[in-house]
Amino acid sequence: MRIPQLNYQINSASNNDGTFFCGKLITGKKKLPFKIKYKSPYEEAKLGLISPADLPKREILEYAKYNLPCPCCGFLMMHPKLFDKISSVITDVPQDSINLLQHFQNYMHPVERQIFNMIVGVNKKHPNMDFYDILNKKLPTAEKALVLKQTSILSEISLIARDNLPEGEFNNFLKIIDQAYKKILIKSNDKKTSFGRKKFILELEEFFKKISMSDSAIQEDALANVKQKMLNCAYNLPTSYNSIEAFIVKYSKSKYNHKSIAMRLLSGSEATIEHIRPENCGGKTEYSNLILECAMDNHKRHHDDLSQQVSENPQMLSSIQKHFNKLINLSRQRKVDKSYISEIAMTYYKLSSGLIDVDVSGLWKKKSFNNSKKAIHFIKDSKDVFTKAEKREEIKLNRWKKST
Ligand SMILES: [Zn+2]
Repeated sequence: MRIPQLNYQINSASNNDGTFFCGKLITGKKKLPFKIKYKSPYEEAKLGLISPADLPKREILEYAKYNLPCPCCGFLMMHPKLFDKISSVITDVPQDSINLLQHFQNYMHPVERQIFNMIVGVNKKHPNMDFYDILNKKLPTAEKALVLKQTSILSEISLIARDNLPEGEFNNFLKIIDQAYKKILIKSNDKKTSFGRKKFILELEEFFKKISMSDSAIQEDALANVKQKMLNCAYNLPTSYNSIEAFIVKYSKSKYNHKSIAMRLLSGSEATIEHIRPENCGGKTEYSNLILECAMDNHKRHHDDLSQQVSENPQMLSSIQKHFNKLINLSRQRKVDKSYISEIAMTYYKLSSGLIDVDVSGLWKKKSFNNSKKAIHFIKDSKDVFTKAEKREEIKLNRWKKST
């Protein structure tokens, strides 16, 4: 049986409750149920759908409907309800999935968008290949490129070790790097024996911990310096989030299929709740400790402290400001609570010992940035029109001229 091709027309619009999406089938009689209603968390609590203890989490999660940028990577986050809706309507027909997903390309992270464009390109020539087939077609080339990238980074790390570590420590390091090379070069589907970026980084950290506890020939600050250099290199190791090759290699495995790959193109962008102080370090589930973060960064962070997260994601300092600017704008429209914004800014400042110092002065400024920009533009265009303050200055100046 041939499955009829669907054509979605999806409109995004804004109303008081934020952005909502509706879609309808252009072809076929059935209407596509794509309208998403965002219910207030308080309504849900009243109906007994969530417990009052979950309110802070739910309320912060609700802010995702305003299309906020992630405070870590800076890319747009998707409301979990929208994500669920898309995954409930997506089909196994490649063309349908492309038609649907292209409406949400602005939510995709760079690697996901590149994979999507690659899929669209192959689909034009081979309309019957689904996403899984397409990734497998690209697998041999991707595998080679991935091994080259990984081994070149390992070589870079080894050179830093050779030039900076005392001989004894360097020999110990060689055992770790030797294992890593073997894992990369031997094809294995078993997670335990295959190479993993996070695992390798943990091994390096463990290695440095051991050196600092032993009485080594290397000085403490020199050791910290080498450690940071080597770790910065290791952070660049490819993952499915930062490399197309790693994405293809990972999702070509038999446990994935067309639909799971299609949804994976969006899943990294799903908004999740992040505890600024991680729960296992005593962080509480209260407003002052909760912020939205994309699923990719939340997953990547594990239980890292803030300074570690910043050193792994140098763009984070500017992304946080972007996130706060949007929150401040929303607070002007009375959509986000002002005290929440100042509280989380304070939490960031305290937990990062001043490293993350967000500018929230916008909370107390009356005029929005847009208005002042317009005013400058206005004066530039027409020399006769002045702002009130300038008129006052002009009058004062004229009086002074007359009196002299
Ligand atoms: Zn992110």
